[in-house]
Amino acid sequence: MKFNLQNIVRKNIWNLKAYSSARSEFKLYGDVSPSRISPFGKMSAASGQIGLTLLDANENPNDPRTHNSELITPNLNRYPDPLQSEIKELLSEQKGISPDQIFVGNGSDEAIDLLYRIFCEPGKDSVITCPPTYGMYEVSAAINDVKNVEIPLTTSFELDVEQILKRVQDDKSIKLLWICSPNNPTGNVLLKADLEHDWQAENYTKGGMMDMPFAPEFEEELKENQRLMDQLIGGFNGIVVVDEAYQDFTENQSFISRLDDYTNLVVLQTMSKAHGLAGARTGFAFASQEIIALFNKTKPPYNVNELSQKAVASALKNVEQTRLQVEELIDNREILIADLQQLPFVKQVFPSEANFILAEVEDATKVYNYLKDQSLIIRNRSSQIPNTLRFTVGTRKECADLMEALKAYKSIEV
Ligand SMILES: *Cc1c(COP(=O)(O)O)cnc(C)c1O
Repeated sequence: MKFNLQNIVRKNIWNLKAYSSARSEFKLYGDVSPSRISPFGKMSAASGQIGLTLLDANENPNDPRTHNSELITPNLNRYPDPLQSEIKELLSEQKGISPDQIFVGNGSDEAIDLLYRIFCEPGKDSVITCPPTYGMYEVSAAINDVKNVEIPLTTSFELDVEQILKRVQDDKSIKLLWICSPNNPTGNVLLKADLEHDWQAENYTKGGMMDMPFAPEFEEELKENQRLMDQLIGGFNGIVVVDEAYQDFTENQSFISRLDDYTNLVVLQTMSKAHGLAGARTGFAFASQEIIALFNKTKPPYNVNELSQKAVASALKNVEQTRLQVEELIDNREILIADLQQLPFVKQVFPSEANFILAEVEDATKVYNYLKDQSLIIRNRSSQIPNTLRFTVGTRKECADLMEALKAYKSIEV
């Protein structure tokens, strides 16, 4: 008898369509053939690769080593702290939450997978995702043999609340509701945790008092948002996951502030974006003590390695540096939005509260290939939203290089 691999592989794994990350799509390591790596080629500080400008994966372009002398090589003969207590202490202080309400994972991607393994029965249960959104929710569902029910965002990239509520009511197999806010790749906030905070912050920025009383119209808006929370989160018998990977780039309050109100809420954050540690693969889940205890039971014992734990702890101690970098990236974002709007082949630049910008252009694939030929790597999102490109906001210089190339594209076209 001949061994047949397909016969013994789980059907959902055999049929799995793998997640296509920015770095697997643009075959960075394979594509850079030795002939392209000239000994005279300039090394890009951000990527560590020869001559490529990487604006495709929403990383922070700044090399943490320039500001972080504590990025040392730790002792590696011992196993790392299985519960990452130093990191949790730092986060606890910064986020105002108890350490036992924090899970530290091998990237948020580990937290995403664990949520399926903890809450979903393979072959039986379902989840709701709201595309266009982060692709891992769907891939992780397929790996865990969980059905993905798609309730697309509206044409203006808002949650279709009515459809979500209807589906949740009709279908008791729905265990998780995935909400990415600010959403990748659209860049907008999908759900607001706390309008009251936003009202005060907005007035304060305009030079008003910190505790400015509400306008009567605002009272109504406040109640409306509370009603939405109570329906969407409070009224759901499963888990609502709010993925806040881009939280540092928005003024809106984090959903961590609502954990006391909703025991079925899980908030995800990561070191991969604002904190400049995508390579350390570390992400967080914040939730009730009970939910975090389930994460801890289910995770591999030493899920975050010692090198990453040390790098993350020292980056978290450098709050001021991160704040300055985020401020600069937000400035760069606003400049890039204004610049992109000037280009004749750009049809629409979507507002962004993240460190990337989605734009609709004429013939996105052509623009993408044109930039790629000049070693400027962005992300083509046309498979999700027709003729769209996603630009990660880089350093001032990277943004300027990008714009220079895009302006030249215009003159080629005309
Ligand atoms: C980048 C990103 C993450 C980060 O994942 P890590 O595994 O922590 O690197 C999570 N969610 C969204 C929506 C993202 O865009």
